[in-house]
Amino acid sequence: MNTIAAISTPNAVGGIAMIRISGEDAIAAASKIFIPAGNVKVTEMRGYTCAYGWIADGDRRLDDVVLTVFRAPHSYTGEDTVEITCHGGIFLSKQILSLLLHCGCEPAGAGEFTKRAFLNGKLSLSQAEAVMDVIRADGDAVLRQANLAKQGKLHERMFLISERLVDMMSAFAYWLDDAEEMPPELERSSLLQELSALHAELRQMSADYQNGRILREGIRTVLLGRPNAGKSSVMNWLCGMQRSIVTDIAGTTRDVITEQVKIGDFTLLLSDTAGLRETENAIESIGISQAYQALDTADFVIYVVDAAVGMMREDREILALCKGRPVLVLWNKTDLTDSQPPELDVPVLTISALHADSYAPLESQIKEIFQKRTFSDQPTIMNERQNTLILRAAERVSVCCDLLNEDAELDMIYAELEEAAHALREIDGDDVTDDVIEGVFSKFCVGK
Ligand code: GDP
Repeated sequence: MNTIAAISTPNAVGGIAMIRISGEDAIAAASKIFIPAGNVKVTEMRGYTCAYGWIADGDRRLDDVVLTVFRAPHSYTGEDTVEITCHGGIFLSKQILSLLLHCGCEPAGAGEFTKRAFLNGKLSLSQAEAVMDVIRADGDAVLRQANLAKQGKLHERMFLISERLVDMMSAFAYWLDDAEEMPPELERSSLLQELSALHAELRQMSADYQNGRILREGIRTVLLGRPNAGKSSVMNWLCGMQRSIVTDIAGTTRDVITEQVKIGDFTLLLSDTAGLRETENAIESIGISQAYQALDTADFVIYVVDAAVGMMREDREILALCKGRPVLVLWNKTDLTDSQPPELDVPVLTISALHADSYAPLESQIKEIFQKRTFSDQPTIMNERQNTLILRAAERVSVCCDLLNEDAELDMIYAELEEAAHALREIDGDDVTDDVIEGVFSKFCVGK
């Protein structure tokens, strides 16, 4: 593979900066620009040793630096690697990088060092993804989870789950090849039990991920309700600023607007949408389809009802669409009416979005809804890619259970198990396409 180089520290002035080089010619390239203070040449340095010296452009010394050598395969990437730690000037570090590019190195792409570590078998794909999670971690619990994955604990957990699946596949293979008929009732029920346990574990992993994401990134909250119910007012009231235009004309909030609102320890990622209702108006229907989209990925729905108008059939229909996720109904505009909210199977809060004193009850209601969400202490998945694969595997396992119950053809069941196993293998980068790998590493920063 070609030799790559990049500045691994941020593009900012700091105490020090670090330039990393990796590949077959890393040591040769570094030796061309480095004058050691001692007697040992870069090409003679052993792995895990460093040298003090100068970076020189011909006769001109640019900076005094510390140069560290890692010899393949004992490096982050698994290749020969050199790290040059210089003073932290932007111009200076760019000059050093430019010298290296003149010596034949190529600029590293986003995440290319970690990609090489993955391709050279130093890290599994979930470990590689966890590197970025460690970098982005902004709290103790997130860092702990990211480190578990980076240390390979998620990889180990996925391996154990996959093994259980492989064992079941061997059992099915036996019935498929030798007996060519359904396993007897006894074995079928133990297989079913095992499949159900596996399904529950996969669903739990996905739930743990969702909880972790909510705590890490915020609760994706969508504000819904018929036009004029007071959604924009609630949004403004929550945000404490005029973000969306509030007006008396129905259906004027045409775009989905997202704001972050801190509620105790939680962050609401708040989307205000056009009222959910069927309409002939072209511009408005864009807003409505966005509302449906927002609902698709929403963790939480705040449903606003105009208490002066009351609960309509449409409100109940839309609330029915929200099933499966926490919903809070705001019985709004109670300064205009004494009307009481109907009995609903979701919490209802009586408010007036024009009055600040409704805020405290709202805050405690939201805290109550989400307080049970905590970070799992088990190694768990950390991103949407992994979650999609876990859910795909869970779905296949669930179909297997159905097929087994229906005495379906054995090869159909076996094919589902294979698909589940394939999805699980993809989490750690087995059987993945180049596109998947590119997609994962494109989210990295250059120099990592
Ligand atoms: P949206 O279409 O659901 O976003 O509704 P808006 O937030 O634009 O509100 C529609 C109208 O109702 C505006 O004139 C608001 O000032 C008014 N409004 C909203 N909440 C209240 C409230 O609690 N009390 C009163 N009196 N008016 C409100």
